[in-house]
Amino acid sequence: MAKGILERYGHLLELPAHTRPLTLLEGDTPLIPAPRLAETLGGGFTLWIKYEGLNPTGSFKDRGMAAAIGEAWGRGARVAICASTGNTAASAAAYAARAGMKAVVLIPQGKVAAGKLAGALAYGAQVVQVLGSFDDALRLVVEITQRRPLALVNSINPYRLEGQKTAAFEICDALGEAPDWLCLPVGNAGNITAYWMGFKQYDSLKGSGRPRLLGVQAAGAAPLVVGHPIEHPETVATAIRIGRPARGEQALQAAAESGGRIIAVSDEEILAMQRLLAQQEGIWVEPASAAGLAGLAAEIRAGRLDVRGQRVVAVCTGHGLKDPQIVTQQMPAPLQIPPHLEALEEILAA
Ligand SMILES: *Cc1c(COP(=O)(O)O)cnc(C)c1O
Repeated sequence: MAKGILERYGHLLELPAHTRPLTLLEGDTPLIPAPRLAETLGGGFTLWIKYEGLNPTGSFKDRGMAAAIGEAWGRGARVAICASTGNTAASAAAYAARAGMKAVVLIPQGKVAAGKLAGALAYGAQVVQVLGSFDDALRLVVEITQRRPLALVNSINPYRLEGQKTAAFEICDALGEAPDWLCLPVGNAGNITAYWMGFKQYDSLKGSGRPRLLGVQAAGAAPLVVGHPIEHPETVATAIRIGRPARGEQALQAAAESGGRIIAVSDEEILAMQRLLAQQEGIWVEPASAAGLAGLAAEIRAGRLDVRGQRVVAVCTGHGLKDPQIVTQQMPAPLQIPPHLEALEEILAA
């Protein structure tokens, strides 16, 4: 029987007693071996993809929303609000709908991937575009929730992180222990923070060990690598186009404490890895989700990371269907032929 994260791991999460069980059966995502890709990256190690794109709304955000909106619902909140580059919006909208609550989502100016905006609208959220950056939208959300009784469900909300810890538990349960390395994209930095909390907690409960963390930002939106906020973050990886990460300090601390680090990769490296993962392993993820693997590849290539004999898990945070245009824009349009066998023969012979 499928169960959501609260039913499976609720006893390990620090949630108030009033939290109501809310679920779309999120979590329990597959840990998929990726042997071909590991070979392409140099070989000699074992690689798994934690495919978080298979959550109910297509990203890991569902883990955090089950907890955060379950808590808000339980204390009688009527409206959830968040700023979002897209996936948080779709997830908040779905879980709010399930709880009979209203969702208001503030999206930044510029690109929000089609599949994400469509999701938020489909689940009935009130979508408001702020003529500014994600960071401007988040500031508005923080300020309005100080004035009005709206439930803030960005990852400043501690219950989001509690819910997202469950992915670390699942990885340890699947492998029998923590991997040697965990690589993942970093945007607002809530997820890397949550993973580290989860691994540490499981280690102290079960002696499952701790991975080293490789957090990866996009070069045009890498405040944690350059050491200061970025006013105008730019990257094709829209889910991590964030210049002022809410959990930045904690993320840096988590990476350091784990013996790992946070690095940046170019958009070209991200898109190349998105293609490689899809074409070598059959796993299509949105651009941001390929950043962790792109960082792993770059570190191995540069000789900065020796993973021989080690177990590496790459978190692929969101589904490729979220952002179909990024692929169709890059790829040549399909060839056209008249409906004749000879025309098809000609193409296949070429
Ligand atoms: C939200 C998101 C991220 C970034 O996670 P943070 O917790 O903001 O660091 C990465 N990838 C996808 C697909 C996301 O939706």
